[in-house]
Amino acid sequence: MSRIELRGVSKDFGNTPVLNDIDLSISPGEFCVFVGPSGCGKSTLLRLLAGLEDPSAGEIEIDGVLVNHLPPARRNVAMVFQSYALYPHMSVHQNMAFGLQHRKLPSDEIERRIADAVRILQLDSLLQRRPRELSGGQRQRVAIARAIVRQPKVFLFDEPLSNLDAALRVHTRLEIARLHRALGSASMVYVTHDQVEAMTLADRIVLLQPLAGRRGAPSVAQAGPPLDLYHHPANRFVAGFIGSPA
Ligand code: ADP
Ligand code: MG
Repeated sequence: MSRIELRGVSKDFGNTPVLNDIDLSISPGEFCVFVGPSGCGKSTLLRLLAGLEDPSAGEIEIDGVLVNHLPPARRNVAMVFQSYALYPHMSVHQNMAFGLQHRKLPSDEIERRIADAVRILQLDSLLQRRPRELSGGQRQRVAIARAIVRQPKVFLFDEPLSNLDAALRVHTRLEIARLHRALGSASMVYVTHDQVEAMTLADRIVLLQPLAGRRGAPSVAQAGPPLDLYHHPANRFVAGFIGSPA
């Protein structure tokens, strides 16, 4: 069971504040969607959770452990990037196995995990292919499968649908929703700039606002269940972004 706690988390790059004063608790099994306009710090927030960046201020806890300076490999999180980030010279099977071999898991355990992921994402016929022999949608499925085999407590998704065409976007979105139900206690932290994705996937939406010209303002414009934001937007920025009725 993993609860994610953010307390007063801020991130500056040089003199530029990108995230400010984020207080948030994400429950085990929750599907939490961070949404907001381009450049408001969504990817930076995921990178903070993954351990790819350190916060400038505040504390990040996963499972009751302060992870501020814990390296990515020790956080029990798996990140799925918009750009897939598959190893180009490895087959689909090797892409899934590599990280597990690196962790020295027994090979029968590795094959068992891969078989599960292959079933969930219907990759049977693709196992020996290389990334360049796959369509964008297939690559994204492999990237998700590679995250699943790690059996993380927390999945971090950075705009995983944005490189797919419209039909595939809907299909893969439904697949991610199904995955969340199948995995039960794993938390999903999902970033998108698309309010439809946010409204349909989220248990809770966290809408981030740009800080430019608003020094000292908090990053979170509003957080709550999708219909709360839709029907009770806290201000005009929220209403405009979510598409609430005027
Ligand atoms: P989003 O994912 O919401 O589009 P990002 O988190 O990628 O936004 O970026 C937020 C802001 O932080 C942008 O202005 C971006 O240029 C800046 N930024 C991101 N990473 C770095 C970095 N490593 N160094 C300097 N500025 C950065
Ligand atoms: Mg981004």
